[in-house]
Amino acid sequence: MVRAIVGANWGDEGKGKITDMLAKESDIIVRFQGGSNAGHTIINNYGRFALHLLPSGVFYDHTTSVIGNGVALNIPYLVKEIQSLVEQGVPMPKILVSDRAQILMPYHVLFDQYEEERLGGKSFGSTKSGIAPFYSDKYAKIGFQVSELFGEEELKEKVYRVCETKNVLLEHLYHKPLLNPEEVYETLISYRDMVAPYVCDVSRFLNEALKDGKTVLLEGQLGSLKDPDHGIYPMVTSSSTLAAYGAIGAGIPPYEIKDIITVVKAYSSAVGAGAFVSEIFGDEAEELRKRGGDHGEYGATTGRPRRVGWFDAVATRYGCRIQGATEVALTVLDVLGYLDEIPVCVGYEIDGKVTKDFPTTTKLEKAKPVIEKLPGWKCNIRGIRKYEDLPENCRKYVEFVEKEIGTPITMVSNGPGRDEIIYR
Ligand code: GDP
Repeated sequence: MVRAIVGANWGDEGKGKITDMLAKESDIIVRFQGGSNAGHTIINNYGRFALHLLPSGVFYDHTTSVIGNGVALNIPYLVKEIQSLVEQGVPMPKILVSDRAQILMPYHVLFDQYEEERLGGKSFGSTKSGIAPFYSDKYAKIGFQVSELFGEEELKEKVYRVCETKNVLLEHLYHKPLLNPEEVYETLISYRDMVAPYVCDVSRFLNEALKDGKTVLLEGQLGSLKDPDHGIYPMVTSSSTLAAYGAIGAGIPPYEIKDIITVVKAYSSAVGAGAFVSEIFGDEAEELRKRGGDHGEYGATTGRPRRVGWFDAVATRYGCRIQGATEVALTVLDVLGYLDEIPVCVGYEIDGKVTKDFPTTTKLEKAKPVIEKLPGWKCNIRGIRKYEDLPENCRKYVEFVEKEIGTPITMVSNGPGRDEIIYR
């Protein structure tokens, strides 16, 4: 059985916590897209961790953690992340890296920085982790697959060929130091030695595991609205954030994905640029951000301040639909306990017309939120374990959200901890 855990919004919905929790009942946890450009924050009995590349299942000793072919593999980063876990007392996890994963090169990070510099104020708010140049190269067919590390002669020949195109851009577009192909080659050889112990035919491994009845979790990064096709293009990430891509980025049949747990946050937050209809500003925003407290005012990877806003039913219903959500985990509900009234965005007004359909980016820029207010519950709901024990107005909020998004909310998260969860 395959389950996917994905985000319905802009990321930071709390997928890490839900994955960490559900990993307990799983055999294999797979990252299938993205790279070290976003992170999950996980708090468990070993401490507090920010994972960027490793799946959130690495804390259990019964699980295998897999980096699928769809991931932007930063090899030194992976090795550092494994080391830091072990140093903090986590048992050495079982890790497999797909032989078809492509390698994030040091020059991808440089090109990312150079391009942001060049664009100046018009930049996309990249995390500068090299993700966009990485995926561009992958589709331009000048990327390096892990498998290519093991044939030295062909590798060297390709490095020279790739450096030639890269150096034209470095010299004439960015006016930056050129790449030395010998150095790039040596770097790749050192990467080969670092990654070799983990390399395997992941697709084959997963398909065998499924035949044996194992449970596989696909862990998505970011959320629906950052998907390059269905999100707020061009303010999106460079790989698909959708559950459907899990089949491709892991190498499993699409029909095996039976359950798509879509994580939805009780209010909105986004890191980076892009239209954000229900965004709030000033003191109101500062208060919500502060209350977000441990949920973090800052993105796990970039340390950039999060933009915040009220729950956006239009964006979230769309986000759930595009994911193909079969169930929803509603997170960070505890944070809203301070409000007398809770505004929610139930529609967008675009050119004088109200719509409940999430528009394309050009129209989105013009959308104004239609706000409805729900009564608050004015108390701390952390520690509550049964749905019936939540205050009435809190349950009403959950049920309102559920009706708006049209997907059953099966889990409500009321704190960052592993067991701070209410099953419905
Ligand atoms: P992800 O990228 O979707 O995994 O989200 P992040 O890890 O960036 O953000 C989730 C943050 O919210 C982490 O700091 C979690 O510890 C925290 N968190 C998750 N669920 C809850 C919750 O229900 N309540 C609170 N207060 N914090 C939560």
